[in-house]
Amino acid sequence: MISREDLRQLASFECQRPDELAISFYFQPSTPKDKSHREEAILAKDLVRKTIQEIQLSGRHRDAIDDLEKILRVAENLHGNQARSKAVFACSGRGLWREFDLPSVPSSTKLFVNRRFHLKPLAPIFSEHPRMWVALIDSQSARILEIQFDQVHEQSSFKSPLSRHGRSDGYAGYDAGHAERHSEDEVRRHFRSVAELLKSAAEKKQFEALVIGCHDVNWPEFETQLHPYVKKKLLGHFSADIGSVTDEMAREVAQRILRDSLHRHHQELIREALEGAKSNGLGVTGLRRVLRSTELGEVECIIMTEDYSARAVECTNCRHLDSHLVHYCLVFGRATRSLEDVSEALVPTAVRNNIGLVLVPRDETLDRIGNIAALLRFRADRNTNQLLAAS
Ligand SMILES: [Zn+2]
Repeated sequence: MISREDLRQLASFECQRPDELAISFYFQPSTPKDKSHREEAILAKDLVRKTIQEIQLSGRHRDAIDDLEKILRVAENLHGNQARSKAVFACSGRGLWREFDLPSVPSSTKLFVNRRFHLKPLAPIFSEHPRMWVALIDSQSARILEIQFDQVHEQSSFKSPLSRHGRSDGYAGYDAGHAERHSEDEVRRHFRSVAELLKSAAEKKQFEALVIGCHDVNWPEFETQLHPYVKKKLLGHFSADIGSVTDEMAREVAQRILRDSLHRHHQELIREALEGAKSNGLGVTGLRRVLRSTELGEVECIIMTEDYSARAVECTNCRHLDSHLVHYCLVFGRATRSLEDVSEALVPTAVRNNIGLVLVPRDETLDRIGNIAALLRFRADRNTNQLLAAS
């Protein structure tokens, strides 16, 4: 699986010599066991072969053919149900070859040949797959699962020891009520120790998101024990019996809760960016303004539709990006080169500068604002005005 550092390294890569090419290959299997899976592998091979032919015809970039032939061999081995989503990044001119298994990313099988790696499907991967804990709890035991990408493993599992009183099954008659009261205390103590464990794990950043599974009757009591800091990371809870829920079932429910929560969060980001743009607040819409704010270091998060693409130019000297297709850079008048899609340069910039990237499905609201927007940390112009006003 890919790490943040891997992603950052890929985002920093750029071809230096004119004969070098950066190749990005994404393979997205159809649902496993699906017959069309084979077709997906065939499609992948055709895609690579076609590109090899084009390069052979052009008579340039001979180095890239080695990479493509190697990718072809990878594609040939993508048979069988075990095939996962995969990405390969290669530039033989610079001795670079990276291969990653991926969780499902919003990309079909595609091949990109360019000066930089195509990272758009990868950039949101960490925000969409936070390290997530699922805490399964009942009145005396707890099991904690960790989910990272599509993998699930048990973090810890424990039973709170019952005290002598709590363990008492009562001598029927008069002691029964007494034992029950003690047992309520035991339950509360157990919940408190689970809540403590979650708090200390949250402080150590052992998880970024939390989902809780327990019997509905236990939820209100357990919820009151959760520390506010843990609650901030809580995405939701579901009804589960710790004795019978499997890891796989817990993973599926937790990931559904995560998807719903991400969807709501993305809608909220869009709303904030649009309102911010209208009120000259912390939002901008449209490519020109997004590029400008990015260059000014104002951007917290870029929001674009999954299929977003726009032509732009890039200065060969200062890397200024411009949505007006000018031949010379406005900054120092150096020549620009045209970009088929501004994302080629904008996405790596976002990764390198820790700017969030959110990809959302196309809809009418986004269509009206050019399918790209950004949420800002601050507005440089407003800060300047405030400074001027203060002086
Ligand atoms: Zn320039």
